[in-house]
Amino acid sequence: MMDDQALLRYSRQIMLPEVEVDGQQRLNDAHALIIGAGGLGSPVALYLAAAGVGRLTIVDADVVELSNLQRQIAHQQADLGRNKAASAAQSAQAVNPGCQIVALEEHADRQRLAALAASADVVLDCTDRFSSRYAINTACLAAGVPLVSGAAIRFSGQLAVFDPRLPDSPCYACLYPDDGSGDEASFPVPKAA
Ligand SMILES: [Zn+2]
Repeated sequence: MMDDQALLRYSRQIMLPEVEVDGQQRLNDAHALIIGAGGLGSPVALYLAAAGVGRLTIVDADVVELSNLQRQIAHQQADLGRNKAASAAQSAQAVNPGCQIVALEEHADRQRLAALAASADVVLDCTDRFSSRYAINTACLAAGVPLVSGAAIRFSGQLAVFDPRLPDSPCYACLYPDDGSGDEASFPVPKAA
């Protein structure tokens, strides 16, 4: 149950008829798996922590570079050279000390992704590689866990949610079939019908 401080912290969300106390409690009880702590994962981690998602697991093997700081807002000057998952976890934790945040400083392979996805209520694909996107999609399908897929490049962005709990839901690979072109480009373009 939320105490007075929590009710005050989340009051602007609780006021929304789509959320209310029950919805906020569901956020507090939820576990979100964030794969990638770069340009997409940074705002995702900060906002989910701020909104009161109770558990975050952030996965990234990369380290913060100077050219990341212009957009990867979970990282700061002092984080240069530091692992991105650890850096983002610390920033998100500073926003909301009540969140349980775990940083995994690793590249999750398919087997690891399957286990991680099965432990989560929602998976957020914030990577920039097609190989990762297909692996994450496979893991979410197997675990029956909703996948939020984001992509951004230059002035373009895409956001899609795939919910394998719905019997007629397509998956990421239905929308973007894997044609084996690999990681040449990281921004998905739907195949011509
Ligand atoms: Zn599919």
